[in-house]
Amino acid sequence: MICKLCQLEKPLIRALLIPRNYFLQMKGKSKHLVEFETGESPQKSLNQSGTIDTTILCQNCDNKRLGRFENYGYAVFPPLPDPTKITRLPYLEIYRLGAINGRSLNLFLIGLLWKLHASNQALGYHVDLGQRYSEQFRAAILAGRDSKSVSCVAFLMQYPQYSDLMLGALRKKVEGVNCYVFYLPPWKLLIRVDNREFGQALTKFELRDGRDGIARVLRDFAPSERHILKFIQDQARSRAGLPRF
Ligand SMILES: [Zn+2]
Repeated sequence: MICKLCQLEKPLIRALLIPRNYFLQMKGKSKHLVEFETGESPQKSLNQSGTIDTTILCQNCDNKRLGRFENYGYAVFPPLPDPTKITRLPYLEIYRLGAINGRSLNLFLIGLLWKLHASNQALGYHVDLGQRYSEQFRAAILAGRDSKSVSCVAFLMQYPQYSDLMLGALRKKVEGVNCYVFYLPPWKLLIRVDNREFGQALTKFELRDGRDGIARVLRDFAPSERHILKFIQDQARSRAGLPRF
């Protein structure tokens, strides 16, 4: 089989589409996420369909090339955040992420995007980078070089329930800029994939090299998430033969 990253003929491995530590953290905590990504049999899907792809990566590319940036991702966005880093400001609650290494963060984001783009699994259903970005990102990962078209704003989900919400990545236009929303519970990342910069409101939260990063703490679902939850609930109820809410 050909590895889609290095493009060499190699045995391919079972690649997790989201970095392992977020996956383990969620798996240990609850089964809610299982219901969110699947069509048919909710119980099975968490460790099988949807989150693992056996057709994209060789061991070296997954563990070493992408793995080292995933390790950086865990350092910036810990799967178990430290509650003492949350600060309440008058109109806003923030989590202090600490100093940001722009290149490592950039490559972590590129790796997330590229993996979901390369995969045909449900989790990456809405991720289509197009030929230009997918080639550019593949080259960036191989060369360890960052891309100016990518940056991100982070949110810490502290919802009253379902903080482990694991939705597939969504595509979104924010202030005219093309973005993806990524769920790495309890983190939510708004990732810019565009040559245009974020607008003013988002720029001040953008994670930048050498600057202390902050994430906004969210205490409730976004309307679009509510909508998706309702849809999933309805589907689950109708599968179980119950009336819709
Ligand atoms: Zn490879």
